[in-house]
Amino acid sequence: MNQEFLTCGSYEVYIAPLLKILRETEKPLRILLQAPDGLKHVYECLSLFLSDSTRRVEVYLSASPSFGACDLPVDEAVVLGVDLIVHIGHEKYELAEYEWNNIPVVYLPVFYNGVVDESLFINLRRVLEENKYYRITVSSSLVESKLKSKIAEYLLSSGFTVYNVSKPILGCFYSNVLVYDREVDAHLVVVGGVFHPLGLALSSSKPVVGIDPYMNRVWSVSEEAVKVLKRRFYEIYRARNTGSKLGLIIGARFAQYRPKLVEYLERLAVDSGYRVYRVTAGYLDVNRLVAIDDALKLDLYVVTSCPRLPIDDLNEFYKPVLTPGEFIAMVRGLDRYIYPW
Ligand code: SF4
Repeated sequence: MNQEFLTCGSYEVYIAPLLKILRETEKPLRILLQAPDGLKHVYECLSLFLSDSTRRVEVYLSASPSFGACDLPVDEAVVLGVDLIVHIGHEKYELAEYEWNNIPVVYLPVFYNGVVDESLFINLRRVLEENKYYRITVSSSLVESKLKSKIAEYLLSSGFTVYNVSKPILGCFYSNVLVYDREVDAHLVVVGGVFHPLGLALSSSKPVVGIDPYMNRVWSVSEEAVKVLKRRFYEIYRARNTGSKLGLIIGARFAQYRPKLVEYLERLAVDSGYRVYRVTAGYLDVNRLVAIDDALKLDLYVVTSCPRLPIDDLNEFYKPVLTPGEFIAMVRGLDRYIYPW
């Protein structure tokens, strides 16, 4: 049991932090494993590994969604009385406004280690050269960070000026990329799907190029962001022209509870003439919002839990639902887009 990584198919799980705890703890352990849906496949591999360990370990596998390290299954852990929560696939959420101390949590990074077709590199280089993006940042989520470094090396050796951003991006955290906005022609994001790159394109004044190793494609995130921004400015327009009963959605998942942000937005809203209703929600979805809206008949909502909910999940809601940044821009009369807060 002295290995640091566990290979699970095309992914490597960094298990050293878990092994350290196992080594240092005498008594049998009840452990709750939690992974995002896209990484739940490592449950099998990791629980087999733990069952092979010399120590008696009782493993529970959380089926709940895990949208990030902001969303630990603390309620399940308390009910089960586990000794340890093992969160897979993210580092500790640094934007949390308070610490969860009741049950220890260990974070196990997972890295994609699959083979990437060489055509993807060639295609990427062509797209960057065609657009004259010679100075770029290269960032990724944690899972793609090893691949990101390979791509950064390739671009560096091809003559590009590359800022290899070591801190992984989150759907609500891009500061380590944005500090290079003045230095670069564009940002390159290595990650599967639209979610992470889109947030960067909403935050940055520079073009964003996505490279998706799972779909073998290079794509313009900024083009997608233009469509999203049109929709968001329309939502802000609708919010500005509606009534003054405001539902302030307060996150009840671990680390999505942001009391300072809530207090700030509430004060801003009250000072701007709104009547504020504090509404709490663990997982906010359309059905929950319909239920509260049927009951209270409010005019608009501002979501303080996850800033992606208004953009990705609630953008078709029949009443305006804003992110904190959108609400701040609206009441202050700013014509620029603010994401996330
Ligand atoms: S974008 Fe939402 S789900 Fe992702 S880390 Fe931020 S708050 Fe959590």
